[in-house]
Amino acid sequence: MKQRITILGATGSIGMSTLDVIARHPEQYEVFALSAHSRVAELGDLCLQFAPAFAVVDTAQQAQDLQARLRAADCRTEVLYGAPQLEAVAASSQTDCVMAAIVGAAGLAPALAAARAGKKILLANKEALVMSGRIFIDAVAAGGATLLPIDSEHNAIFQCLPGDFAHSAPARAGVAKILLTASGGPFRTRALESLAAVTPEEAVAHPNWVMGRKISVDSATMMNKGLEVIEAHWLFAAPPEQIEVVIHPQSVIHSMVSYVDGSVLAQMGNPDMRTPIAHALAWPHRIVSGVAPLDLAAVARLDFEAPDFTRFPCLKLAYEALHAGGTAAAILNAANEVAVEAFLARRIGFRQIDAVLQAVLAQVAHAPVADLDHLLQQDAAARRAAAAYIAAH
Ligand code: NDP
Repeated sequence: MKQRITILGATGSIGMSTLDVIARHPEQYEVFALSAHSRVAELGDLCLQFAPAFAVVDTAQQAQDLQARLRAADCRTEVLYGAPQLEAVAASSQTDCVMAAIVGAAGLAPALAAARAGKKILLANKEALVMSGRIFIDAVAAGGATLLPIDSEHNAIFQCLPGDFAHSAPARAGVAKILLTASGGPFRTRALESLAAVTPEEAVAHPNWVMGRKISVDSATMMNKGLEVIEAHWLFAAPPEQIEVVIHPQSVIHSMVSYVDGSVLAQMGNPDMRTPIAHALAWPHRIVSGVAPLDLAAVARLDFEAPDFTRFPCLKLAYEALHAGGTAAAILNAANEVAVEAFLARRIGFRQIDAVLQAVLAQVAHAPVADLDHLLQQDAAARRAAAAYIAAH
């Protein structure tokens, strides 16, 4: 039986890498549904190539135009639109596996729908887990879903944990620390006083990875690593003190697990997201991903250093939000989404991103999470506060 895959965010960097891996194994996988937001023409091309049962876009007009194009090309794909339909394809009884690769909080609702419907979820959309935390993990358990990490770091940790590890099992005998590696992004060594002048073009030019614009800016501020610390906390039931960030500029070791006996297990490979995607798609088996084998002689050396919290205040803020608990991570995530969008639109400077976050965290009081509605209210309050701060500065 082929696995029927739904890709939420098919037109993005992770979505396209997922389709690249799937296309290498037509005997094992078929595409059930694909979604897009703004790149509707690209989604149309993907429908012609993969012939999914469904394509999901945002608006009725987009759907009408795309459907007409696909009909004219004799493509059988049915085009749907809107959030309820996105959730419906994610939870459909006809899909086995959902790649959650929408960027930001917009991906939460369909990912939660997949969790409640008991799907195998390949989670790239870290913001969904960061903002919803316990609600997401409980939905996975209640729905009987399988949650597999796509973030290269978390996928690496997953591979380095004991074979009988389960997300819900707090007893991970012998694990001392989770060591999250970070490249340090494009500004690890740039003169501190010049960071204020960083442009969006410089910020999205990551030294090792090709990614979407939002995560590229997050990597430059190291907010990405902060979000990943929170993500690791939820995925592996690990307290903040057990999660340590290590700068490793070559991005060859994708993360490590340190055990009480002194052993440190690392997962290595070329920096290419097709490796964790192939790992999670085929888990517990292995399939070819298209990634070139690691040439250790060419890599020659692996460097490590401690993170600099002065240079990267967003990382510190993320640890603080994790310690604070409740809705603090959702507030931080929402403020960051607004700040990054404003930076990419040249409405604020690079160093103002962390200023926005600090202002919002000081203004919007975090509280224990009551339920999903409460969380979404706090998300909205943080977005309003961030927008107001940006408008005033
Ligand atoms: P991209 O920006 O390349 O792609 C984002 C995808 O989400 C696109 O398909 C986009 O559609 C869709 N999308 C954007 N906004 C909305 C919205 N409001 N509603 C519905 N769909 C939307 O991002 P990436 O692929 O880089 O990242 C996706 C997720 O994976 C992020 O959470 C990121 O942190 C995570 N991740 C990415 C990695 C990478 O290497 N790229 C590595 C690890 C994690 P459209 O293009 O049509 O507008």
